[in-house]
Amino acid sequence: MGSTVYFSDARTRYGCNMRDKLRRLFDRCGAASVISKNDTVAIKIHWGEKGNLTYSPPPLIRTLVDCVREAGGRPFITDTNTLYRGSRSNAIDNIITAYENGFGYGTVGAPVIVADGLRGDDFVRVKIDGKYFKSVKIASGIHYANVLIAFSHFKGHEATGFGATIKNISMGCAAPSGKQNMHSDVKPKVKKKKCVGCGTCVEKCPVGAIEIRTDNKARIDSDKCIGCAECTIVCPSEAIGVNWKSDLNVFQEKMAEYAMGAVAPKKGKCAFFNLITNITPDCDCCNWSDVPVAPDVGVAASLDPVALDQASVDLVNRAPGVAGSRLGDDIDCPDKFRALYDVDWERQLDGGEKIGLGNRDYALINVDADKEI
Ligand code: SF4
Ligand code: SF4
Repeated sequence: MGSTVYFSDARTRYGCNMRDKLRRLFDRCGAASVISKNDTVAIKIHWGEKGNLTYSPPPLIRTLVDCVREAGGRPFITDTNTLYRGSRSNAIDNIITAYENGFGYGTVGAPVIVADGLRGDDFVRVKIDGKYFKSVKIASGIHYANVLIAFSHFKGHEATGFGATIKNISMGCAAPSGKQNMHSDVKPKVKKKKCVGCGTCVEKCPVGAIEIRTDNKARIDSDKCIGCAECTIVCPSEAIGVNWKSDLNVFQEKMAEYAMGAVAPKKGKCAFFNLITNITPDCDCCNWSDVPVAPDVGVAASLDPVALDQASVDLVNRAPGVAGSRLGDDIDCPDKFRALYDVDWERQLDGGEKIGLGNRDYALINVDADKEI
């Protein structure tokens, strides 16, 4: 039997803005029922890399905070440290980035906490019965909260096709060494003809696996490489390609196992939201925001993370493509994420279903149906 996904579209008007719609969705999807009086509630978001402008807006998170508090919970806003060297790879830089991107107490109305500590080594090994992992490293601040509410921005992703709730509760709830464990099968290679020897990849590689050789070309030491894929994103010449063929399938299945580790200890204590607006081709970990590939679709919620991601990707793929976006001549394609990336994004959903995270079958309820918009 399918799970229920609740949806509100992106149309707004006087007296019914997106914050009103999110509140309505919170009430309808049953999020209040997962919260008991005085529960600590981790609101897991992605507050964006410095330079990114299309992460979830702080005023919407404030609405979620208010809803959680009205339901009796004690909310805090949280995210984890990154594996790559950017503006969020330790708690100091991470919190500064959160503040600079607008996520202070004054805007969101709740404390902002980096869930895996100052250096990303504060985690709990959660036992799971996975194909790849027998235990996963979940950030302590998330593991020890009574309730997990994940609010995820739906967008494209170079390693998973799209990124939304499953990505947010797997990569996003893992300590950096857990992130490394998920990534470790992904080993990129340098296309020598395209490399101009600029050294950007050398600076960004978190483990010093890249060197510029005497021929002025980068070379990756595959023994040192942990497969974080950061170099593939930063290379200005697109000279570094990941071996997508099998590794990214495994990567997505590993993500599903990590997601299971984040939610399994909280049975009946989780709720999930996808904000399906500003659907950029890249993740919010990128320090830029490219033109969206689809128009704003709306916001969706469910108690089932797999059903929610399935419904969200279906909604985006049914929407028209945006002219002038990275889709190029492919704006009428049936699958925007396969057009953007050579990745089988269904593997994260299949993996989630196999491990018992949720259900790909869903019923979509439009909560606007009984309203004017
Ligand atoms: S970033 Fe790209 S072009 Fe620059 S050195 Fe690395 S592989 Fe070569
Ligand atoms: S060489 Fe490996 S470890 Fe270094 S940035 Fe690239 S993928 Fe990450």
